[in-house]
Amino acid sequence: MKEKSFYKHSVNFLKDYYQQLTNMDKKFLWHPFTQMQDYLKEDPLIIVDGQGSYLIDIKGNKYLDGVSSLWVNVHGHKHPKINQAIISQVEKISHSTLLGPSNVPAIELAQRLVEISPPGLNKVFYSECGAAAVEIGLKIAFQYWQQRPDPRPKKTKFVYLQNAYHGDTLGAVSVGGIDLFHKIYQPLLKENICVPSPYCYRCLFSNTPIDCQMACLEEAERIIKNCHDEIAAFIIEPLVQGAGGMIVAPSGYLKRVREICNQYELLLIADEVAVGFGRTGRMFACEHEDVSPDIMVVGKGITGGYLPLAATLTTDEIYEAFLGEYWEFKTFFHGHTYTGNPVACAAALANLETFEEEQTLAKLKDKIFQLREWLKKFEDLKHVGEIRQKGFMVGIELVRDKKTKEPYPFEEKIEIKVIQEARNNGLVIRPLGNVIVLMPPLSIAQEELHQMAEITFRAIKKVTEG
Ligand code: PMP
Repeated sequence: MKEKSFYKHSVNFLKDYYQQLTNMDKKFLWHPFTQMQDYLKEDPLIIVDGQGSYLIDIKGNKYLDGVSSLWVNVHGHKHPKINQAIISQVEKISHSTLLGPSNVPAIELAQRLVEISPPGLNKVFYSECGAAAVEIGLKIAFQYWQQRPDPRPKKTKFVYLQNAYHGDTLGAVSVGGIDLFHKIYQPLLKENICVPSPYCYRCLFSNTPIDCQMACLEEAERIIKNCHDEIAAFIIEPLVQGAGGMIVAPSGYLKRVREICNQYELLLIADEVAVGFGRTGRMFACEHEDVSPDIMVVGKGITGGYLPLAATLTTDEIYEAFLGEYWEFKTFFHGHTYTGNPVACAAALANLETFEEEQTLAKLKDKIFQLREWLKKFEDLKHVGEIRQKGFMVGIELVRDKKTKEPYPFEEKIEIKVIQEARNNGLVIRPLGNVIVLMPPLSIAQEELHQMAEITFRAIKKVTEG
């Protein structure tokens, strides 16, 4: 007989159901960014519930959600306001298309997004994931140069940074700078232009942040100067390269990128998928340097981490290049089936209201400061090379040798051991190579934040120092 769905059963039943689910998981599921050969040997963590900063597994164990369920959760799990917004919208309608007709939450959310975004971003185009929203940004930038009043058809390439990550679809991979993820797909990709990243800990020019004068950006400028008439846009993760290892750019870097874009007539695409919605301490990372991009991409935290939604915002000037007679075909021929899904948009509206009602950003300031204090003692650990923090984004880079910065070889799986140890002590985190990432929900309580730092500290110490 086929088992009934576990949603209908008590916690006791769920415990018994664990083994059966484990077998089904291993038999039918292919997990993303996961070496399944290893996964098949492990006892999977099967989440059934969430509350505030915690995840609860099928055996009833509670874990702090140290990476906000892949950098998305903002106000905690099972927030009554967001839950209710979703339920209320489902009771009206769960989906209608935005290809032609409109819907109420999509309209209201577009207005709110424009209100809170950097000046000049007046139009909102929806999609369902960050990668799609990036693709949309790239296509809009390209098409803008093709059909603006004074067209520049040669402007077809994109500048991106080494260590950049913009998603896993092919367009996004073509502006990705992480060899481990992207190199194998090279034969499938359009050629773009990679420039050095501001990875100060491993500076390509062997500078230190004090004397560097942003040599990496000077090099980028030199490259752009030579071929700017072929470049449509510069795409960047403002302030922090997330998946590249939480690489924090020096202050003033983003502003200088904006100036270079202005000087050489490049559109600036700010990918705020990871850094947006409060992660860096401001609603959007661009605000720290008073930068308005021409195109801004948002996702992840937009719904508070409840439902898949992303958006690409742009300026009137860019939008107007797509206006014309029906038969001129200047239309943006792009649109995913669930674009502007009303339930996801309702969740996003509730997320933004919660930011205001709970004064999330104001309360975050102290927590960011506290976290910085608690992270200081990590510097004494023998195998912590660098601690990088911008707001509630933290990367702790582990090294085999602190003096030479020699990384641990992948074979040692050091980061996997650290996160396993953390999990044994009630914290779920996920690394990026040798970098241990901490990205708690913005709503996390100070005691929980402290607990997260302590568990991480002890896990790193135990695994790397024995
Ligand atoms: N851009 C950035 C900066 C990201 O960090 C990510 C995801 N981590 C994406 C784009 C892709 O978003 P998604 O996984 O929703 O496609």
